[in-house]
Amino acid sequence: MSQERLFEAQVVSRLQLSPSIVRLVLSGAGLSDFATTNIPDEWIYLIFDRSGDDHGRKKRDRKSRPYTVRQWEPETCRLTLDVVCHDAGPATTWAQTTAIGDAISFTAPFGKYGPADNVDWILLMSDLTGLPAVARIIEQHRCQIPVLANVEIAEDGDRRLVAQTCGDCVAWHKTFDRHAGRSCLVDIMQNMSRPHGCGYVWIAGEATAVAQCRRLCQDNWGIEKNQVTAVGYWIAGQARG
Ligand SMILES: Cc1cc2nc3c(=O)[nH]c(=O)nc-3n(C[C@H](O)[C@H](O)[C@H](O)COP(=O)(O)OP(=O)(O)OC[C@H]3O[C@@H](n4cnc5c(N)ncnc54)[C@H](O)[C@@H]3O)c2cc1C
Repeated sequence: MSQERLFEAQVVSRLQLSPSIVRLVLSGAGLSDFATTNIPDEWIYLIFDRSGDDHGRKKRDRKSRPYTVRQWEPETCRLTLDVVCHDAGPATTWAQTTAIGDAISFTAPFGKYGPADNVDWILLMSDLTGLPAVARIIEQHRCQIPVLANVEIAEDGDRRLVAQTCGDCVAWHKTFDRHAGRSCLVDIMQNMSRPHGCGYVWIAGEATAVAQCRRLCQDNWGIEKNQVTAVGYWIAGQARG
């Protein structure tokens, strides 16, 4: 059985981007052979507790949390994460308390974003946790297919995650409550008109809301199953396993 590749890094920068979001940059010699997938929603699993790794404990029993690779700079081996801080949880506590020089390990990246070449439009639906991926998807978007994003934020400062030059295609909704864990993604989608032609929809946010949005896309909008990428980013009332 092949060994899982884990990367060891240190925190080299920590910036409070908005009241909700902390930007952390990880770097170090351990990232010299980190390879991006180039899939713009790629994520890694941050690992917070590896104490059982050497004692036969299964990978799934580890305390790990998925975070989007907001940016990877191969020349300097710097990997940027934008972490939404809510009330409690190992990842939130880490983001709020970690300091420059602290060590952290994480897995190799995975990605799912994948519109077909012949779609007429691309729609991104996300709450604040998906904003780092939305920002990177928009920044990496090179073809002429129009992209529209609907993003739930908690406060105006959260818009800073998207470069000003890319902000035109984002409709902002100040409806996300990171303390109460409330998302209005389904209402936002229900109040939208389906764009004409065939499209690709990428959805990220609270798991139940994401599942409902996926059903809306397939059942009400008639989007092909393989042209909907829907990922539950967090689970209301439940820590990630
Ligand atoms: C592919 C993928 C990429 C992701 N990328 C990012 C990213 O770039 N930035 C980011 O901030 N998050 C991202 N997430 C979401 C993040 O992994 C979850 O929010 C995670 O549960 C946070 O871990 P925690 O240890 O802080 O809280 P947990 O221990 O998982 O949960 C503790 C409590 O907090 C609640 N909770 C968890 N997340 C939230 C939230 N966002 N708002 C309100 N309440 C919450 C839970 O319901 C639970 O009650 C991503 C998830 C996936 C699947």
